[in-house]
Amino acid sequence: MSISIRNIDHHIAGVAAANTSGRTQDVTNPATGAVTGKVGLADAAQVDAAVAAAQAAFPKWADTPPIRRARVMFKFLELLNQHKDELAHLITAEHGKVFTDAQGEVSRGIDIVEFACGIPQLLKGDFTDQVSTGIDNWTLRQPLGVVAGITPFNFPVMVPMWMFPVAIAAGNTFVLKPSPSDPSASLMMAELLKQAGLPDGVFNVVQGDKAAVDALLEHPDVKAISFVGSTPIANYIYETGARHGKRVQALGGAKNHMVVMPDADIDQAVDALIGAGYGSAGERCMAISVAVLVGDVADRLLPKLIERTKTLKVLDGRNLAAEMGPIVTRAAHERITGYIAQGEKEGAKLLVDGRQFDGSQAGEGCGDGFWMGGTLFDHVTPEMRIYKEEIFGPVLGCVRVATFKDAVDLINAHEFGNGVSCFTRDGNVAREFGRRIQVGMVGINVPIPVPMAWHGFGGWKKSLFGDMHAYGEEGVRFYTKQKSIMQRWPESIGKGAEFVMPTAK
Ligand code: NAD
Repeated sequence: MSISIRNIDHHIAGVAAANTSGRTQDVTNPATGAVTGKVGLADAAQVDAAVAAAQAAFPKWADTPPIRRARVMFKFLELLNQHKDELAHLITAEHGKVFTDAQGEVSRGIDIVEFACGIPQLLKGDFTDQVSTGIDNWTLRQPLGVVAGITPFNFPVMVPMWMFPVAIAAGNTFVLKPSPSDPSASLMMAELLKQAGLPDGVFNVVQGDKAAVDALLEHPDVKAISFVGSTPIANYIYETGARHGKRVQALGGAKNHMVVMPDADIDQAVDALIGAGYGSAGERCMAISVAVLVGDVADRLLPKLIERTKTLKVLDGRNLAAEMGPIVTRAAHERITGYIAQGEKEGAKLLVDGRQFDGSQAGEGCGDGFWMGGTLFDHVTPEMRIYKEEIFGPVLGCVRVATFKDAVDLINAHEFGNGVSCFTRDGNVAREFGRRIQVGMVGINVPIPVPMAWHGFGGWKKSLFGDMHAYGEEGVRFYTKQKSIMQRWPESIGKGAEFVMPTAK
């Protein structure tokens, strides 16, 4: 059977733009291993063209009343709801995650668009009448100009939507550089924005790799960069962007722990670990990758967890019964199996070995896909690489600790601080946990506490470089600069020059 291979290129100034660099990368369907597309990898000249289009569109868009910008967002929202399943299918075809999970991803992106529809309210400034006799002072927030988003493979719709709805609604123009592993959804979002009435040039997509990213980082007309991806690249983006005078928020990797206290409901904890550890094949920055089992929990919880891990429904993501799909690329598959071998070598006890799963069990045509089952380790210790490093796959490690304090100390010593969870029925433990833990997003009996659209998303420590979180009010602040205006009118201006520091009179 021959499969047609599509070219997946750029969207610049409101139209599709063919790649001109001569460089491309294969896009694969992870379920079958088949190459389904060739994504163009932009060079600096094509990035220049996208930034120039965004720069040209900026003055008019920035001057458009916020309520009219919001109306475009309302229309976009309507179109997203109409085309939600098409977007989810695109995600499944290139990322591999199961269709229902992809639908959930689109929904969480839609939440941010709904938030951005409120931009007139969000941009309201503060006004103080009569700060001194005859003088008023107010603050307003204005857009920055051209801003760029560089996004990871694992949420090709939701993570770009953490950025561009807020940025655009606030009056900026945008250049998105998606992951080359699953680039198609970005072009569909560009098309829907155009249909919603967004002026050409306000939203542009350049596909690419490091060359495109570097061109954005160095471009003098790009005023801010939002990045989501792995920690080494986040660090690089933060440093390089800052060196080029840009505002940067760079969200990095994670190692998220879930503490199970002896008083927790064990069945609920097992459900949470299975869903948060293996959902989306563990390729979520908020996936739980470490279970911290306190006191005697291990003996009661592990038999159930082993059974559930062994019976995970690992199937082609298009199958609605699927609980877990394939790994995104062959390279990622190799990295994850390498970590499993490393864990064995380091002396962790391998309870369930996902490497034994064969793709032919996942569905027709899946024999050459990038498949594995869930892997479960016990007796993981803090010195092991499988504990310290982000594996970003369906591998859950259990660490046994004696007390609640040991659990908190363990987590606080880790270099990442994205998400964390604690399962308990004790209110005091829950409260202490929330206050003491050095992690940006905390769940109490909630395994994946991704904040809602109006709260803002961001980890601590090596999980976030920069001080402002994505979306929510921090997102609005990130994409706008504050201006303070002080006014008086001739009748209240006294005679003569003043040489002392003005004070309220
Ligand atoms: P990645 O860091 O490899 O890639 C992210 C983006 O950076 C992509 O657009 C990629 O093209 C670009 N990039 C890659 N290498 C580069 C380089 N050398 N120079 C410049 N740009 C480069 O990440 P990924 O594998 O696509 O995504 C998985 C990672 O993202 C995981 O570490 C995960 O934890 C993280 N992530 C974090 C969050 C969060 O909110 N903190 C959310 C989702 C994913």
